[in-house]
Amino acid sequence: MKMNDFEAVIGLEVHAELKTASKIFCSCSTAFGASPNTQCCPICMGLPGALPCLNRRAVELAAMAGLALDCTVSPLCRTDRKQYFYPDLPKAYQISQAELPLCRNGFLTIKTLAGERRIGISRIHIEEDAGKLIHSEGSTLIDYNRSGIPLIEIVSEPDLHTGREAADYLRALRAVLVSCGVTDGKMQEGSLRCDVNVSVRRVGEKKLGVRTEIKNINSFVFVEKAIEYEIQRHAALLADGKEVPFETRRYDEASGKTVLMRVKERAEDYRFMKEPDLPPIYLREEEIEALRAMLPELPDARAERLVREYAIAEDDARILCSDRALADYFEAVADNCRYPRLAANLLLTDLLRRCQTDPFHSPVSAQRLSSLAALLGEGTVNSTTAKKLLQRLCEGDFDLSATVECESLGQIRDEAILKKTVLETLEELPRAVSDYKNGKTAAIKSLQGRVMARTQGRADPVMTERLLKTLLAEYEVEQHV
Ligand code: ADP
Ligand code: MG
Ligand code: ZN
Repeated sequence: MKMNDFEAVIGLEVHAELKTASKIFCSCSTAFGASPNTQCCPICMGLPGALPCLNRRAVELAAMAGLALDCTVSPLCRTDRKQYFYPDLPKAYQISQAELPLCRNGFLTIKTLAGERRIGISRIHIEEDAGKLIHSEGSTLIDYNRSGIPLIEIVSEPDLHTGREAADYLRALRAVLVSCGVTDGKMQEGSLRCDVNVSVRRVGEKKLGVRTEIKNINSFVFVEKAIEYEIQRHAALLADGKEVPFETRRYDEASGKTVLMRVKERAEDYRFMKEPDLPPIYLREEEIEALRAMLPELPDARAERLVREYAIAEDDARILCSDRALADYFEAVADNCRYPRLAANLLLTDLLRRCQTDPFHSPVSAQRLSSLAALLGEGTVNSTTAKKLLQRLCEGDFDLSATVECESLGQIRDEAILKKTVLETLEELPRAVSDYKNGKTAAIKSLQGRVMARTQGRADPVMTERLLKTLLAEYEVEQHV
């Protein structure tokens, strides 16, 4: 089978929990992590006779998401019942939006390996979340705390073509939603979840192939892997002259494969009907414009500004802006620092690795990181020492200048002292010296390393390299025969 003969088409349905204090149709709390079934009432438990009352804030946040994604927000929309039977859905229907969603026809521009791509967003609608099933020791328990948490579903056009591209889209989408305060976007806690639709067709074919849908993927890496696996599976079936069945599948993380869940349901199966217990939703033009005015600076615009204002690399700016809290922290550091590039570097290569919390939360105050970048920028300490100091700051705060002074951590830039150390090193490592002299220039690395070790990492690396090169040129190697 030649993969070049096939082309994949992918569309994503992303569910994001909205950041409201209370649920979408009742006043129960939406806080995550409470004991099971302590945040529910007759409405979100679907008891007979209980009537829903729409949370206006959910509509506002959903509209904001639409505006941030260049959608048209409808001044009038409706809710519908999507009916299916499953134990996590106490009413046996989910209140959602079918024909008249709140937002339509938007797009998101993403940067991929192949350049910029515009991914269409066909619709964003409001709906309620279901409860959570907990499978334990052969039985299944249900937690209804999640039942009735407001969600938006963001449906993309089938504009994506690889697993990587789909993951890039999801990352960019998450960054936009989080920056607007629409959702907290925590994939591990399930506040952002993704269903992936994949089909494969022969190159040149106009008609889309039969798709399969992979439900509820909860990480960027798994989105990419599940799609790549599924593309191969479809292509193998098609190459064999077989048809791809229209199915709903799930990704098995352990085996890296997708497995069948059920034959895919079609819209008719849900027997959609207008929700009779809720009035239509109106949004006046002034309300929509007021929400538009409240939109913050979006991640792409912010990244461009960071490059302009602080002269940092474009890739660094993009990583910083993928998480609003991270970008906020960087700006607090860079705003009173003459060395924003160094600060970005310390933040992205050292600090970020140590705090993988989501959203980013730094154990080091912005002011300290700013001072550290200054010590490095002014040459008071070298980068090895700066990294060590940063590691210590992560464990507990202390005064930087006082510590550098008190523990003599300052960079050694005294030519006489360094020259002496370099000469001693050349004596110590004759083998590296003769290697260097015989044309193995990489041997200078071990000499540099030794100078660093002899100075407890404090030698000025640029000066060390210069001295090494000059002194090596002059150095006579004894010939051992
Ligand atoms: P459903 O609600 O049954 O999942 P939708 O029509 O809402 O169906 O489509 C869901 C998603 O599937 C959208 O993101 C859409 O872009 C994508 N999609 C539709 N047809 C295909 C296809 N043939 N191949 C890949 N993706 C598709
Ligand atoms: Mg679907
Ligand atoms: Zn409730």
